[in-house]
Amino acid sequence: MVKKVLKFGGTSVGTIERIEHVANIVKNEKSAGNDVIVVVSAMAGKTNELIQLSNKISNTFNKREFDVLISSGEQVTCALLAGALLKLKVKSKSWLNWQIPIITEGEHSNARIINMYTDQIDNFLKEKGVAIIPGFQGVSKNGDITTIGRGGSDATAVAIAKIFNTDTCEIYTDVDGVYSTDPNKIPVAKKIEKISYDEMLELSSLGAKVMQPSAVQTAMMYDIPLEVRSTFSNRKGTKILNQENIDYTKSVTGVAYSKDDAKITIIGVKDKPGVAANIFEPLSKAQINVDMVIQNISSDQKTTDITFTVKRIDVSKTKQILKNESKVDYKGIVENVNVAKISIVGAGMVSTPGVTYRMFRALADEKINILAISTSEIKLSVIIDERNTLDAIKKLHTVFDLD
Ligand code: ADP
Ligand code: ASP
Ligand code: MG
Repeated sequence: MVKKVLKFGGTSVGTIERIEHVANIVKNEKSAGNDVIVVVSAMAGKTNELIQLSNKISNTFNKREFDVLISSGEQVTCALLAGALLKLKVKSKSWLNWQIPIITEGEHSNARIINMYTDQIDNFLKEKGVAIIPGFQGVSKNGDITTIGRGGSDATAVAIAKIFNTDTCEIYTDVDGVYSTDPNKIPVAKKIEKISYDEMLELSSLGAKVMQPSAVQTAMMYDIPLEVRSTFSNRKGTKILNQENIDYTKSVTGVAYSKDDAKITIIGVKDKPGVAANIFEPLSKAQINVDMVIQNISSDQKTTDITFTVKRIDVSKTKQILKNESKVDYKGIVENVNVAKISIVGAGMVSTPGVTYRMFRALADEKINILAISTSEIKLSVIIDERNTLDAIKKLHTVFDLD
């Protein structure tokens, strides 16, 4: 007998038929003698629908009420799954976050789980019941409902695996594992058998939405092995674990992309000490995350252009701050929101020379212009024109032997 967390994502619980299918998976686990805690997301599309409803009231909808609203999709799936299990004669019960409670810290819509009370659920497991818990939701110390960021049910599942000390944490989704790139975009993508926490963290932070980054981070911190697998097939999934358990034959493990970024260029700033600090200080105070930065060499030694990337949703705020609060003089600001960030990730990059050159050559062969670059030990990201996204991913996938 083992103790398991099974997490089912939005598509997996997207219809009544699918919820009944999930109930059968859970029933089989129970029949095999396992203790089971289930975490569910809202039905696919539901959370987006709820966000749109709030936008119809106001674009500055109250933050507390926003979390009450957008966490409600998970309440529906919890109850439906518990009901489906009871119909199959499996003892089962759902809890909402505040009934357990799952305590969070931090701002609304982006809170972190810091603790969870275990008594009720432990007792129910002892009575051989299946506990159903909503992902994504929490409650703050002063009793307000919170949510823990989009895709946050993954983080709920990992937190439960840690706090209940379970033997496995299985992430059931609509693909049968983590692939070398999004299999729904690039059909030749290959399933990865094992991937390290570090690589998965880079891939998910850089756009591979199959796992939520903060869930991977927690799993890495506490060394909780994860398995990503399909709700709709019995095929083996992908294990996410410690690097020591992996042999690297390839320099690159995966290619990720995101269209969340925008490029901003400040033209004609004075080329003197302190300018960059004066530009980025007010942005940092406003919690705007600057990713890549390039400073052009000035031809006249007097002025220069500074280019950087921020999240697309932060573009107008960034421009406003540069106009109103910056102590820096400049001639103009140019923005480009039609860009994509393409990244290659691989722990094998550390020991393979020439990966950078091969990436740049591959993109040049496709006549794709690189607008900005950033690197770390196990990843290389470039900003390119959004139109070239698919071509770039396909080419890099081939060049690094991932097809
Ligand atoms: P869930 O609702 O189950 O949490 P998500 O939609 O959050 O599922 O994540 C699964 C999706 O992630 C897949 O349908 C796939 O399109 C996308 N995806 C992006 N990159 C990858 C990748 N490298 N491997 C697998 N899936 C990926
Ligand atoms: N339902 C939430 C979302 O759509 C949480 C999740 O799916 O993990 O972001
Ligand atoms: Mg998800």
